[in-house]
Amino acid sequence: MASGAGALSEGPNPAVMGTYGRFNIVFERGEGSWLISNQGERYLDFGSGIAVNTLGHAHPDLISALTEQAAKVWHTSNLYRIEGQERLAEMLCEASFAEAVFFCNSGAEACEGAIKLARRYHFANGQPERNRIITFEGSFHGRTLATIAAAGNPKHLEGFGPEAPGFDRLPFADHDAVEKAITDETAAIMIEPVMGEGGIKAIPKECLQGLRALCDKHGLLLVIDEVQTGIGRSGKLFAYEWADIKPDVMAIAKGIGGGFPLGTVMATNEAAKGMVPGTHGSTFGGNPLGVAVGCAVLAAVLKDGFLEDVQQKASRLRQALAELEDKYPDMVEEVRGLGLLTGLKLKPAVGDVVNACFEEQLLTVPAGDNVIRLIPPLNVSNDELSDAVSRIGKAFEKVRQK
Ligand SMILES: *Cc1c(COP(=O)(O)O)cnc(C)c1O
Repeated sequence: MASGAGALSEGPNPAVMGTYGRFNIVFERGEGSWLISNQGERYLDFGSGIAVNTLGHAHPDLISALTEQAAKVWHTSNLYRIEGQERLAEMLCEASFAEAVFFCNSGAEACEGAIKLARRYHFANGQPERNRIITFEGSFHGRTLATIAAAGNPKHLEGFGPEAPGFDRLPFADHDAVEKAITDETAAIMIEPVMGEGGIKAIPKECLQGLRALCDKHGLLLVIDEVQTGIGRSGKLFAYEWADIKPDVMAIAKGIGGGFPLGTVMATNEAAKGMVPGTHGSTFGGNPLGVAVGCAVLAAVLKDGFLEDVQQKASRLRQALAELEDKYPDMVEEVRGLGLLTGLKLKPAVGDVVNACFEEQLLTVPAGDNVIRLIPPLNVSNDELSDAVSRIGKAFEKVRQK
């Protein structure tokens, strides 16, 4: 992650473990697509806390959902029924392929849960040897021991001891190569419909359809990681809809909580048949506060016209970025993305451009493959989109002068 110049003279407090390269700035408040620092500076937020703040900052529906629940009960554990969970699970199932939802707190936990579910499915079918999962290089599924092994990024694995077994990673290859990798031990294929951290690489529709067909042919589960692409980010509620396929299992997190830590594993009843009482759990998963906010986020995204609006804004942004590419051919190699999950593959180092944008008070997020991510709140305004693109232009001018 980039580290840049900030408004404060002192650096981050070393009492916080130094696992992040942070900008030296503290945000005190947010309003819609804007974050306001403790020095009163306004930043246009095209990072959304890494694709989390679906409805921007301080959305009135989310504030009331959280505060109303906060006045009732915060936490009971999953020893008891939680009304908000049942409501949110029903809403998610109604709006997707899924028939059952497991609640957790983060994307890594959702992916980890999806991996466990896939193995357990074959165990329930009397084939416990089918426990290996085919994954793809350049993916990102989180930072737990299993999910770093699933994605196989050497930088994430280094120094963390033996790699968790059970993953067969392939370079993203043709249909035949994937089929060749399937053995009697294969349980599932796991993929992000758009590789987010990997550099906003959208998997072609035909590839996802091909993977679906392979899973059907060989009795595998298709596990889709929509932690970044889900909840409207792609312009559909879930990105798999663009490919006209249905997965068997899906992990979501980031956008569903709108800023409150929340994740889910979603599955068909058939895929989830091994997940009986006692097999999996989480103390905080689906905590009443989180699911109250989740219901409010989902209700807003499912409102008539919301997703159409996201698609319109996405094409407006894409067009403005294409114009930027024409104007700065020395800066932009390619415009990428799906919906408001947008990226620019850059010619100069992405860190320099992210820092220059920061100086223009525009927040962006770097990704792999030298890509800068533009992931505004889904309710961003057209004016804010134009504003962001003009700030990127100014940042490019600065990088040119260096
Ligand atoms: C961010 C992300 C994760 C991990 O989510 P955390 O909440 O950071 O654990 C997993 N998969 C994808 C596709 C992601 O973008």
